[in-house]
Amino acid sequence: MKHLAIASKTAKAVGDDEATRRIRALGQRITVLRVAVLRTLLEAGQPLSHQEIQQRVENQEALPIDRVSLYRNLEWLVQMGLAHRITADDRVWRFSARRDQEAPRHPHFHCTRCGQVFCLVDASVAIPAVPSGYEVKELEVVLNGLCPQCGRHAADTTLPREEAQSSVTASRPS
Ligand SMILES: [Zn+2]
Ligand SMILES: [Zn+2]
Repeated sequence: MKHLAIASKTAKAVGDDEATRRIRALGQRITVLRVAVLRTLLEAGQPLSHQEIQQRVENQEALPIDRVSLYRNLEWLVQMGLAHRITADDRVWRFSARRDQEAPRHPHFHCTRCGQVFCLVDASVAIPAVPSGYEVKELEVVLNGLCPQCGRHAADTTLPREEAQSSVTASRPS
């Protein structure tokens, strides 16, 4: 069941990493940008916005990439099923590489404090029954709330804020 054998000595070499293998497995043409963008998503392990992907491709892959090329390559990865797109309520598109064990339709969690989006890969979402004549092409479930880290942070800051409020009330002129 384990796929650790995949990690060979040459895994880091150009043309023989996970991203290259995934594209090659589909019989698709290998291009430097396709590999760089997919590798960036695989290494991130969580959904990234266009801007974050562009920064990482330029910094970590040392590849200049313009906005249009990035859009085109991301669209291609989504079409090929190598990545999926998430639209959270901040209207920012984010992209994530498809993982082996993830549910084909999983919900996403958007933290309204830090803005991060997480794939809830173990949870699957059922398509609601729709009236006849309607055909569901896509289903997106985004849950908004606080991630574990921000939830803890929020609990820490609740008390001082309440104290500040009550002191204002106390100094109100009578
Ligand atoms: Zn958060
Ligand atoms: Zn996801």
